[in-house]
Amino acid sequence: MRPFTFAAAASVREALARTRSGTAYLAGGTTLVDLMKLGVMTPDQVVDINRLPLRGIRADRHGLRIGALERMSDVAADPGVQAYPMVAGALSGASPQLRNMATIGGNLLQRTRCGYFRDTATPCNKREPGTGCPAVEGENRGHAILGTSDSCVATHASDLAVALVALDAALSLRGPAGTRTVRLADFYRLPGATPHLETDLRPGELIEAVHVPPLVLARHSTYLKLRDRRSYGFALASAAVGVHLVGEKIHDVRIAVGGVGTVPWRLPAVEDELRHRPMRREVFEAAARRAAEGVRPLARNRFKVTLMQRAIVRALMDLAGGDD
Ligand code: SF4
Repeated sequence: MRPFTFAAAASVREALARTRSGTAYLAGGTTLVDLMKLGVMTPDQVVDINRLPLRGIRADRHGLRIGALERMSDVAADPGVQAYPMVAGALSGASPQLRNMATIGGNLLQRTRCGYFRDTATPCNKREPGTGCPAVEGENRGHAILGTSDSCVATHASDLAVALVALDAALSLRGPAGTRTVRLADFYRLPGATPHLETDLRPGELIEAVHVPPLVLARHSTYLKLRDRRSYGFALASAAVGVHLVGEKIHDVRIAVGGVGTVPWRLPAVEDELRHRPMRREVFEAAARRAAEGVRPLARNRFKVTLMQRAIVRALMDLAGGDD
C-alpha cells in the first residue's frame, strides 16, 4: 500500500479545511480500504470523518431524511425506514459484516465491481483514463446493458441507489462553497468518454444526508435482487418497484433497475405503460418489454435483458399478491 497521512476530523469545518488534492474521506472504509490495499485508490491523505455529526434518521410527513454516516444495518432496522420497503429491502442484500460497517454515504459512492477495475495489472479507462476497456471484448457476464459506452461497460454497484432513484431522492452536499441539493438521478454520470468521472461530487464535498420525498407508493413497494448466490452478492438484475393503487387500477408507479446499468436506471416508459392499468400479469409483461429499449448487450450478458424484464414482472406480482 502506498504511504499516506492520516487525520481524524472532529467537525465538518475541520474536515473541509483539511481537504486538498489527493485526499480521501474515510467513513465505513468498506470500499476505500479494500481499494487502497489493491493499489486501485492511492490517496496521499486519508481524513476520518466518523466523528462528524452527519447522523440521524427522521421519517415524517416531509418524507425520510437519513444522515450520511448512518450504518446500513441501523437504517434497515429503523421503523421509519421500514415503512419504505424498497429502501429497507435494498439495504438488506449485503453481508452482515458489510452492513454493520458501511455507511449510507459510502454505499452511494461505492465503486464498480468490474474485475478489471480492481486488477492493476490490466488496463481500465475508469482507473487509468485512456488505457482501454478490456471488458468490452473480455469477461463481461456481470457488466451493463444500459448506459454503456465504448469506453466503459461497468455496472453501478449500489442497490440502495436504485431504490432511491426510483423514489426521486435527493442528496444534500456540503463543500468549501457551501451546501447544495442534487437529485440522485442527476448525481451519477454516464461513462461516455470519461468513465473515471462517476458523480457530480466536487472536490472536497461530503454527502451530508439523503432526502426521500413522501410518496404514497413508497409504502407499497419492494426491492427484488437476483444474483448468483443467495447469501450475498452483487445483483445480476434487480428491480425497485412501488405502486399507488386507486381502486383496481395503478394510479402511479415507480420502477428502477440495478445490476444492468452503468448508473441506477429508472424506466419511465415502463411506468407509462402501467399507469391507469389493472394489476395483472399480462399488463406487467407487456410493460416490462419496454425495459429493453436501448439495451446494448455484450457477448456474455445477453441473458440480462430477459432477467431484468422478469425481475420487473416478479416484483410487480409480489405487490399484486399473486404467485409467480
Ligand atoms: Fe474499466 Fe469500465 Fe472497462 Fe471495467 S468496464 S475495465 S471499469 S473501463
